[in-house]
Amino acid sequence: MAIPLLIKTIVVGPIQTNCYLLIDSRSKKCLVIDPGDEAEKIIGEIRKDKLIPTGIINTHGHYDHIGANSALKKQFNIPISIHKLDTDCLVNPKKNLSGFVGISEKSPPADKLLEEGDIIDFEGNQLKVIHTPGHTKGGICLIGDGFVFTGDTLFCEFVGRTDLPDGDEETLKKSLEKLKKLPSEYKIYPGHDNQCTIGGELEHNPYFKS
Ligand SMILES: [Zn+2]
Ligand SMILES: [Zn+2]
Repeated sequence: MAIPLLIKTIVVGPIQTNCYLLIDSRSKKCLVIDPGDEAEKIIGEIRKDKLIPTGIINTHGHYDHIGANSALKKQFNIPISIHKLDTDCLVNPKKNLSGFVGISEKSPPADKLLEEGDIIDFEGNQLKVIHTPGHTKGGICLIGDGFVFTGDTLFCEFVGRTDLPDGDEETLKKSLEKLKKLPSEYKIYPGHDNQCTIGGELEHNPYFKS
């Protein structure tokens, strides 16, 4: 029987982004999801647990989710994956919005482009990519066995902003419909703030209620 994956949360940067390590405890391999800032802190956690990172996945291209891509790729020589419609954000500070807050964040370009329906194999576990635009054009959620990483698409009792460039409210609503189909016990790991469940959000999230 498969040993469940571990998920470790590292909160990084001025707007408190959740960077996640998805860990296979047997092999010690891990995927780094949204290394948004504070590369040293993320690297420290990886070193402390003697983990072996095998890749970076960005749920979308905003600067607060990609800010440590460069340092992590340099340190561990691992590929960066992002949805094909958010690739420009990696290399364009205007697109990733860092230009608007007076910093100029850049990531190396993507190594792998993701799209709807892609399956990422991680140590024999499958992570399914669903395209959930609305917060950005190339936002994705990653569905595993019993959990979903939702980036800035869905949070505990609220949803991602749609008033930024490339945001669109109607599109986000459609994306949320895809998430509503998940089993209610699935745990949500959002891009900011606390974890919650699909069932809990169907009950309490005013933007997610049916
Ligand atoms: Zn965002
Ligand atoms: Zn964010």
